[in-house]
Amino acid sequence: MIEADDVGGVHIKYLYHCPRQIWLYLRGIRPEHLSGTVQLGEAVHETSYNRNSPIDLGAAKLDFIDGQHWVHEVKSSARPTRADEAQGRHYCYRLEQIGIDAQGAILHYPKTRRTHRHPYTPEAARQAQADIAEVLTIAGAGTSPARLTRSACRGCSFTDYCWTE
Ligand code: SF4
Repeated sequence: MIEADDVGGVHIKYLYHCPRQIWLYLRGIRPEHLSGTVQLGEAVHETSYNRNSPIDLGAAKLDFIDGQHWVHEVKSSARPTRADEAQGRHYCYRLEQIGIDAQGAILHYPKTRRTHRHPYTPEAARQAQADIAEVLTIAGAGTSPARLTRSACRGCSFTDYCWTE
């Protein structure tokens, strides 16, 4: 259903928030289009950091890469998450695969005017590969992974699907 090369940023983000999201997404179940959260994310993107076109790496689409080969990603949330870091690491790995020596990811949080730098180390490269393998394992599972606790689902765009009895 999905191969290693098909794993993109959205799968990695879901992996770190809730494995069930990956499973649902890969079966064509989509969150509500243009939910409030999605709209906010798009608005932040359009207004805060519109200096370059996104870079399309097939399954992965990153915001931009600078002249020193740092990946830049603009986030709509106020606080950094492990998912944000994992996505940045994944993009570095994808760049490395096509011969670009990515230095790491710089994550921008316009809401709080913070930036976080995550160098792309050999350990990060190994973790990026492990994350892809984990996505493939979840994708191949016969049944959907269990839901998170209700409080952990807050803000997830699959909430209606998972919690409407
Ligand atoms: S609503 Fe909760 S259980 Fe369902 S996909 Fe989202 S985070 Fe996971």
